[in-house]
Amino acid sequence: MTVNLQLAAIRKKVQAGERLSFEDGVFLYDCDDLFTLAELANLVRERKNGNFAYYNVNAHINPTNVCVYRCIFCAFRSDLKSPKGYVMSDEQILERAAEAERNGATELHIVGGLHHQLPYEWYLNVVKIIHQAQPRLHLKAYTAVEWDWFSRLTGRPTRDILAEFKEAGLGSLPGGGAEIFHPEVRDKICEHKADAGAWIRIHREAHQLGLRSNATMLYGHIEEPRHRIDHLIRLRELQDETGGFQTFIPLAFHPDNTGLSHIQKPGSSRKRDEFPSSVTRSITRSCAKTDAGKPGSRSSPSRSGYSQSDLCLVRFKTPPVRLDRRGVNYQT
Ligand code: SF4
Repeated sequence: MTVNLQLAAIRKKVQAGERLSFEDGVFLYDCDDLFTLAELANLVRERKNGNFAYYNVNAHINPTNVCVYRCIFCAFRSDLKSPKGYVMSDEQILERAAEAERNGATELHIVGGLHHQLPYEWYLNVVKIIHQAQPRLHLKAYTAVEWDWFSRLTGRPTRDILAEFKEAGLGSLPGGGAEIFHPEVRDKICEHKADAGAWIRIHREAHQLGLRSNATMLYGHIEEPRHRIDHLIRLRELQDETGGFQTFIPLAFHPDNTGLSHIQKPGSSRKRDEFPSSVTRSITRSCAKTDAGKPGSRSSPSRSGYSQSDLCLVRFKTPPVRLDRRGVNYQT
C-alpha cells in the first residue's frame, strides 16, 4: 500500500471511531504529514472533549533526591554522600506546601528518590503532615517505582500500602516511572527498578481503590517508534479495563548531565515534539485528556484548526475552561 493510501485508510478508521492498531501507530510515527496527523488527533479530541480544555495549578515537592537506583537517563538523583544530596525536613516540606497554597496551587505533585536509609514511615509522614496542614490541597504523590520500593521496604503488598496512604490523605498517583515499558529499552535505561508489569499492576490497584492516576512516556533517547506504540497500547489496555487514567504526559528526554549525554541534544522541533502527542491522541482515544505538562498551562490554538491541546495533552481535573478559538479568552 502506498503512503497516501495507508494514511487514507487510517483516516477512515479514525473518522469511524475505530481503534488504531500497533501497525497504524508505527506508520504514523514514520509519516511526515503532521497536518493530517494533527487533524486526526483534533478529531479524536473534539469527539471526546468538545471545545473544552482542563487545567489545574500545581506545585512540586521533591522531598529527597538520594536514590538507590541509577537510571541512566536521570539527572536528578544523588548518592547518599554527595554534596548534592538532600533530605527535606518536616518544616521545609510544610513551608513549601504553605507557599504553594498561598500562591493559589490546588495540587501538590510529590515525588523523589528512593533513599537508602529512610524508613517507610518517613514517606507516609510526608503525606500525613501536608494533608493535616493543608487539607484543601490535592496530594498527587509517589510514582509506581516508589510504591514498589515501599513494598520492598516493608514486605507488604502495594495494594495495602496504597490504601494506608489514601487514608492518610493521598489523592492520586502521578504518572512517572513509566519511561518506556518495552524490555528491549527498559533493561538498558533502568534495569533495576519496577518493571512494566509492576508499573501497570500498581496503577490498576490504585484505580481499583478509587484513586485516579496519570501516565507518562519518556521519549527521544534510545527507543524506536515501535517501543513507543507498544507503550501506548499497554496504557490503552489498562484504561479499557479501569478507566482510571486522567492524563497522559509525553516527556521529552533531555540528555544533559545524564548517562546518555552522548545523545545529541535534539532541540525542539515539530517532528520531535508534536508527533508523540498527536500519535498518542490517535492511538489512545480512550484516554480522556492529555497534559501540557506545565502547571496552570492553558491551550492556545494554532493555525490549522488544531490547538496545542491536540498536540500536547491537557491535564487536569477542574475547572473546565472554555477555549476561545483565537486563544485569547478563557472562561470558567
Ligand atoms: S528511580 Fe527515579 S530518582 Fe532514582 S535514578 Fe531512577 S529516575 Fe532517578
